[in-house]
Amino acid sequence: MREIIDLTKDLMRFQTVPSKPQEIKRCAAFIENYLRTCGVVYNRFDYENTPSILVLPQNGFAPVLLMSHIDVVDAPAELFQPLEKDHKIYGRGSLDDKYAVALSLVLLKNHLQRLRKQGRSRNDLPFGVLITADEESGGFKGAKKVLGEIKTDFCIVLDGGSVEKIVVKEKGIAFVKLTSRGKAAPGDRPWLGENAMEKLIDDFVKLRAYFVKSAPAHQDRAVVIKRVYSGDLHAQIPEYAEASVEIRYTGKDDMERLLDTMQKELHSQIVVEAVEPLFSGGESSHLKLLSGISAKTRVGFEDGANDSRFLAQFSINGIVWGADGDGSRHTLNEHVNIESVYELYRMLDEFMMVL
Ligand SMILES: [Zn+2]
Repeated sequence: MREIIDLTKDLMRFQTVPSKPQEIKRCAAFIENYLRTCGVVYNRFDYENTPSILVLPQNGFAPVLLMSHIDVVDAPAELFQPLEKDHKIYGRGSLDDKYAVALSLVLLKNHLQRLRKQGRSRNDLPFGVLITADEESGGFKGAKKVLGEIKTDFCIVLDGGSVEKIVVKEKGIAFVKLTSRGKAAPGDRPWLGENAMEKLIDDFVKLRAYFVKSAPAHQDRAVVIKRVYSGDLHAQIPEYAEASVEIRYTGKDDMERLLDTMQKELHSQIVVEAVEPLFSGGESSHLKLLSGISAKTRVGFEDGANDSRFLAQFSINGIVWGADGDGSRHTLNEHVNIESVYELYRMLDEFMMVL
């Protein structure tokens, strides 16, 4: 199992941040090479320049699908040098989500070897593997595209949870744009104009009030401002400004009503670009089987939002599960606990054997 750790480190050396598509491509090519070396047949998808790699036992179907991603959030260059210390691997992508990519690949290789020894083939594999490259930027060119093209009875999103906690419910996500219009002013008399950017900022502050911890009954929502843009940079005063905002919502929220209420208070217009459903894994015999394998693993909820939300869209049952990293995802202290990676491997291995 040491191979999983070495492979994780190899993957971590690629700086697979969304702003470096070439690194993402190099990392995808590295995975393709690994699969070819093991004699695994795979499919590579490229939607709008974003690679995804898919291994299925049969055409278009896997009894179980393991999902993970190679893209990571930004980090200083030194975080792309993996550091092994105190039974942990430190560095960007160790926990989110490259150990999961490595684990899936090694599990795949070992199961294929086992089957070949028995004179069987890829068609007898109990699971498939999907590796995407845009989870951190919404998953629209990876999970969303590929999941729509295949069938699976149960998807295990290896991107969250912990060895002791299988996640069956997560927040949904709404992508919203705030657009603000002001009024131009003569260049030498800017006070006569109306600054669209300033109005936009005021509006974001108002909107944020709906998401603060103290907001009544809304403690579990979250809002993140991702990008701000203003029109003509040469004009003295921005006449137009917009902000891209992500809203994480829970099962308690009525998004339509919430957006309506907020709109009434804002000068800017709220443009809803997409509302992705909540992830809710559904009851399944697979989950029961998995719970039976690990006595100490319980089922729970989590606050994050990841590609699991696409499962609901395609009516796929599933869970979010993963190794332990002490909540260090996306931090400078990101790490994964090696023993938990091994334990996760053992449980998944056993699960695939009894399927
Ligand atoms: Zn992730």
